[in-house]
Amino acid sequence: MATVGILGGGISGLSCAYYLKTLGQSKIKYICLLDKSPKFGGWIQTTRFPDGAIFEHGPRTIRVGTKAGFNALELADKLALSSRILPITREHPTAKTNFILANNQLLPLPRDPSAFFRKVPPFSKSVIRYVFKEIRTKRSNLDDESVYSFAERRIGEEVAKYALDPMCRGVAAGDARELSVRSMLPFLYETEKNYGSIVKGILKGSRISEAQDFMQSSLVQKAYREIWRMWTLKTGLNELIDALAGTIDERGKADLIFDAKCTNLTFKDGKADIVVDNENIKVDHVFSSIPSYELASLIDAYPVLKENLMAIPSVDVAVVYLEYETDIIGNKTGFGYLVPSHEDSKVLGIVFDSCCFPAMNGTGQTRLTCMLGGRWFKDIFGDPKTVSMDTLLNVATEEVGKRFNTTDKPIRHKVILQKKCIPQYLVGHHIKLEKISEEIKENNLNLSLIGASYKGAGVPDCIYNARLSVEKYLKSLH
Ligand SMILES: Cc1cc2nc3c(=O)[nH]c(=O)nc-3n(C[C@H](O)[C@H](O)[C@H](O)COP(=O)(O)OP(=O)(O)OC[C@H]3O[C@@H](n4cnc5c(N)ncnc54)[C@H](O)[C@@H]3O)c2cc1C
Repeated sequence: MATVGILGGGISGLSCAYYLKTLGQSKIKYICLLDKSPKFGGWIQTTRFPDGAIFEHGPRTIRVGTKAGFNALELADKLALSSRILPITREHPTAKTNFILANNQLLPLPRDPSAFFRKVPPFSKSVIRYVFKEIRTKRSNLDDESVYSFAERRIGEEVAKYALDPMCRGVAAGDARELSVRSMLPFLYETEKNYGSIVKGILKGSRISEAQDFMQSSLVQKAYREIWRMWTLKTGLNELIDALAGTIDERGKADLIFDAKCTNLTFKDGKADIVVDNENIKVDHVFSSIPSYELASLIDAYPVLKENLMAIPSVDVAVVYLEYETDIIGNKTGFGYLVPSHEDSKVLGIVFDSCCFPAMNGTGQTRLTCMLGGRWFKDIFGDPKTVSMDTLLNVATEEVGKRFNTTDKPIRHKVILQKKCIPQYLVGHHIKLEKISEEIKENNLNLSLIGASYKGAGVPDCIYNARLSVEKYLKSLH
């Protein structure tokens, strides 16, 4: 029977503890999870205002549709959260419309079949012409390339500029010209390698192949039947964190300890030694779910590993919540809008929270979350250590005033600066991961790496990668 230490109590660390406890009952004697913060959840933190309005400081929706997405729903089902879920189905207005800012105007991205055969601004061709170009483009033998160059090469410059560029800003707060298609959008990379075309790959693939391993869950069946796109929980994603922590905690078998910062990590004689507040915790194996740069600061004894962990950069994002008394969105109902990097705007994008989940509104009729900075933070706002919260608030309110043509002032606001919060999978990220894994093997470290820094930063990826890593570890125990 093994003892295990987990560094970090965000969604990755908590999922890891959950799977160790549930899948490893016969092999795991004791789990000790440590988090340096006073609260579990990592980037998942929810503010619930007294009138019921909800503001998510980090993630707000969990995507369905992939294996990782269905696995996250299966987890929610096992945690008895089914009745707490608020889904966005295919028919939901926000699933149908996403805007982009082009030439200072909010334009809906073409989604419905009629847009297939006609030009929809800002695109100068119909979707069907891009489809033909994609099918005719030869497979590349590149090992990796940027998201932008992949889209430009296979589909065309306009699609790279108006779809993939803003998408990278929305998902990773990063630059499509720097982010790796292989690591950030592995589906696109692998589909080109396997089928020679994304369109052909999509036509050959099926939704059921992603869902079938999880179909014993009635919640997954419902989501599959009703074609859910994404979901949240009635009073925010913190419910998921509370449910996980409540299920894992069991005195003597699993200890979840907050306000416990790990300051050093060493490995000797088949054991790992975790230093916390000058105390040593000895365990058989460590799962690290803390950001790669945090782990690097703990392992001075392994300089090559440290250097490779440090080579994965992260960016700062300001999250500005704005609530308005009246409906200022009007006929622009949708998920929100994203801003391509060449547009004249200081924001990455704005989510229309009140359209996505009206049940989470309080007294105000419009709730918006504005994302600022990311890869461009220092260029626009200077040092994140010294930027004033008023500057960030003013940029967000001015942007809203301009886009919705309103002089209304928000009735409630909150500004949160999330430092080094989104890892950047730059071109060649997979080589860094290979070097990291070689170093762990060569030095015989009882260490598994999970968490957003490595193989997928979305919440479903974090949960699924924790599960895969636990399954691999349990298999290694005879
Ligand atoms: C603004 C924002 C919006 C996002 N939106 C979405 C979204 O809508 N949908 C989606 O799927 N994903 C979204 N994401 C991504 C997603 O939230 C994260 O990738 C995910 O929450 C990361 O979880 P994690 O457990 O891997 O890491 P973290 O949440 O970073 O958790 C790591 C934990 O480790 C602890 N820790 C660090 N160092 C130490 C130490 N030395 N000792 C002990 N503990 C330590 C930290 O306190 C933290 O709790 C968003 C992220 C951000 C920042």
